[in-house]
Amino acid sequence: MILVLIDHDRGELDALSLRALTAARKLSDEVHAVVIGSAGAGLSTIVGEYGASVLHVAHHDGLTDYTPAASGRALVQLVSTLKPEAVLAAGTPRGNEQLAHLATILDLPMAAECSEITLGNPHTVVRARWAANLMEQALVHSELLIATVLAFAVEAEPSPVSSVVQDFDAVLEPIDLLVRILGRGGEAAKSGASLADAKVIVSGGRGVGGPEAFSLLEELASLLDGAVGCSRVVTSSGWRPHAEQVGQTGTKVAPDLYIAAGISGAMQHIAGCKNSKTIVVINTDPEAPILAYADYAIIGDLHKVLPALTEAIKATKG
Ligand SMILES: Cc1cc2nc3c(=O)[nH]c(=O)nc-3n(C[C@H](O)[C@H](O)[C@H](O)COP(=O)(O)OP(=O)(O)OC[C@H]3O[C@@H](n4cnc5c(N)ncnc54)[C@H](O)[C@@H]3O)c2cc1C
Repeated sequence: MILVLIDHDRGELDALSLRALTAARKLSDEVHAVVIGSAGAGLSTIVGEYGASVLHVAHHDGLTDYTPAASGRALVQLVSTLKPEAVLAAGTPRGNEQLAHLATILDLPMAAECSEITLGNPHTVVRARWAANLMEQALVHSELLIATVLAFAVEAEPSPVSSVVQDFDAVLEPIDLLVRILGRGGEAAKSGASLADAKVIVSGGRGVGGPEAFSLLEELASLLDGAVGCSRVVTSSGWRPHAEQVGQTGTKVAPDLYIAAGISGAMQHIAGCKNSKTIVVINTDPEAPILAYADYAIIGDLHKVLPALTEAIKATKG
C-alpha cells in the first residue's frame, strides 16, 4: 500500500497532490490518502475520484493551518500503524518540507522531486537536481520509500474508487506546533485564478521597475482570466507577495501561456516556468537568456508593449 499526503490550504486542495496520487496508483493497486487537519476532510470525494480507497484525516486543535513539523509527527503515527511501502507527496516546497520532517523523525532518507519511481530493494528514483538542470538516477536503501513527485512530471488521471474516511487524533507535543502561521500578508493582492492552476500567467521581473507598474500586468492578466506571477527579485524587493513568485523557491507552474516581462531568465526562474506550453518574452535585451526558452519574443520596453497588447486584446473582444 502507498500512502499519499494530500496537501491543502485550509481545505483548499493543492491540485499537484492529485498528480502524486496518480503516480502512487502506477506503483500499487492500493493507495491511501492522508490530510493533515480537519479542514481537509472535505477532500474525500476528490481523492476517491483519483484512486484513493481511504482518506485518513489527522485531527488536532492545533492543525488549523500549515504546521510542517506537526504534519511530520502525524504522518509518523499513521505510518507506524499502516506500514505502507512508500509515502509520497507533491514535490512542492510544502510537500518536500512535510515529508522531510517525517524522514527526519524516522531517521530515513527522503528523495525529493522524483520524475520516476521504481519500488524495489533498493528503490530506484530519478530525481531533479540543480533546479531540474540535472536529472539524477539514485538508489534509496530503505524499506520505506519517502519521496515527493516532481511537479508536472505525471499527469493527474482520474480512476474512481469508493473511498472511506478514517479519522485519527494526532498526538502532538507543543514543539511540533512551534513553526506555524501567525498571520498572512499579501492576500489582498491575490486576484482571479491561483498561480498553480492558471491557464495564463503574466509574470514580471526587475524590468517592471517597481510595484506601481504591476498594474499593467494585472490589467492584462485579468483580461485573459489569468494570474500575475513574478521573479524572486520582485518578491525580495517587496513589490509583490511571495505567493506570486515563480521558480525553484517559488511556485512551479505549467500554464498554456506564460508571458515573461522584464525577466532575464535565471535558471532558478526557468525551473518554475519551463513546463509552460507557450512562452512569450518581453525584454529590452535581445541577448537575455530567457529568449532561449521563448516561443515568441518582443524586444522592447514592457511599459509600452504591455499597454499595446492590452489595447489590442480589448479591441478584438469588442
Ligand atoms: C537558491 C536560489 C533560488 C532562487 N529561486 C528563484 C526563484 O524561485 N524564482 C526566481 O525568479 N529567481 C530565483 N532566484 C534568483 C535568480 O537567480 C535571479 O536573480 C532572478 O530570477 C532575477 O530576476 P529578474 O529576471 O527579475 O531580474 P534580472 O536578472 O535583473 O533581469 C531583469 C530583466 O529585465 C529586462 N528589462 C529591464 N528593463 C526592461 C523594460 N523596461 N522592459 C522590458 N525588459 C526590461 C532586462 O533586460 C533583464 O533581462 C534564486 C536564486 C538562488 C540563488
